[in-house]
Amino acid sequence: MASAYGSLLYEGKAKQVYETSHPDEYLVHFKNDATAFNAKKHAQFEGKGSLNCQISACIFRFLESKGVPTHYLDLNDDAWMLVQRVEVIPLEIVIRNVASGSLCKETPIKSGTTLLNPLLDLYYKDDDLGDPLLTDERIKLLGLVSSTTLSEIKTLALTVNSYLQEFFKKINLLLVDFKLEMGVTKNGQLVVADEISPDSCRIWDLNTYDQEDRILDKDRFRRDLGGVLEGYSEVLRRIKGFSS
Ligand code: UDP
Repeated sequence: MASAYGSLLYEGKAKQVYETSHPDEYLVHFKNDATAFNAKKHAQFEGKGSLNCQISACIFRFLESKGVPTHYLDLNDDAWMLVQRVEVIPLEIVIRNVASGSLCKETPIKSGTTLLNPLLDLYYKDDDLGDPLLTDERIKLLGLVSSTTLSEIKTLALTVNSYLQEFFKKINLLLVDFKLEMGVTKNGQLVVADEISPDSCRIWDLNTYDQEDRILDKDRFRRDLGGVLEGYSEVLRRIKGFSS
């Protein structure tokens, strides 16, 4: 049953966050908007919000079952998620298992190269600055998080990656890379927040050889490959098959 929601607190490119009658709980509405290249490219896909919300809910539940704390509380309706109120840390935490995207634009590493160890990149969550890549020293200089919290963030991100890589492998999907956001609850606990969906992950179908056909994530939109909803639906179908 859907909880009643109050005022809109925040609206981002793909989500809206609403107050609820409970001060420590928010409702997140997953929108059908798709954006890329810092919102220079924009489109709407009917049903994308619902797919991302359901995929994220399944993944958050899986992580919770492994003891990974997340902000997830409940799936409220197909595109609405009830979450804990957290103070979001302004970092985009990217974990890469296979080279793709910006890593290949910024280094000589060829797309599709399997990385010996997961690579963790931290970006400053700031649209006006274009989400720049950070160093530990810059994080310290900007006072974004303490060095203890930074180590906790890295450890938690790599733990999430190990669980998710295994989870996706079981359903014949390759987790190429993904972006996490984290927040701190009122009790001071560091938790995984935001979403984990084909909007924020690169996911390749291990059953498909063709290098474009195997893409089941937002690169279908970024690269005008078509079949965006089909890709996202396939991810949900496999996750549901695994969970049931
Ligand atoms: N990502 C994201 N939001 C961002 C930037 C990246 O969800 O603002 C995800 C992206 O979908 C991919 C991973 O983080 O799964 C790594 O993205 P990359 O640095 O390669 O940037 P991109 O080329 O995708 O913009």
